[in-house]
Amino acid sequence: MSDVFVVSAPSGTGKGTVIKRLLADYPDVYYSVSMTTRAPREGEVDGVDYHFVSREAFINKLENNEILEFTEYCDNFYGTPLDILKAQIANGRKCLLELDVIGAKNVKKIMPDAVLVFIAPPSLEELERRLRKRGTETEKSIRKRLATARKEMRARKYFDFTVINDDLDAAVAALENIIINEVK
Ligand code: 5GP
Repeated sequence: MSDVFVVSAPSGTGKGTVIKRLLADYPDVYYSVSMTTRAPREGEVDGVDYHFVSREAFINKLENNEILEFTEYCDNFYGTPLDILKAQIANGRKCLLELDVIGAKNVKKIMPDAVLVFIAPPSLEELERRLRKRGTETEKSIRKRLATARKEMRARKYFDFTVINDDLDAAVAALENIIINEVK
């Protein structure tokens, strides 16, 4: 039985919505809040969506070994705070980490029992449509995220499960089956 579940998906796949639904249904699941140097998007809350920190503060934590894994994604740092995660695992809680594909692969190296779940869009065309509809990114950022998405789709093979987010209810049910019911 695994306690650590890592969910990755290309930006705009709807991963955030799927995860929010799962957490609402199962409040006992611990959601690991990452640290990032990216600026908050409208509506994002410090300490809830991310811990928003300066580059200096991030590098400081890194040097003190207070970060489990980290990545540089589209010019910003993102990392998983280690202490809280360790405490939650010790308490027997299921932990959910939302990471990019590099982070997922790194966690598997450090914690071989971790279960990796990839959430995929129905297609790259649909992903582009959703990113534009979201309206939170500049054109440059959309292009960068789409190029990254193409690479991320190729990394699917490293994951234990793929959930296609075509229908939201079905995607939530599939993720709940993997994490809560541990259906293999
Ligand atoms: P966004 O800027 O869209 O919130 O996140 C960009 C990417 O960074 C997403 O793929 C997200 O899953 C990933 N990410 C967020 N936090 C972490 C983290 O702590 N570590 C790693 N490796 N990736 C993260």
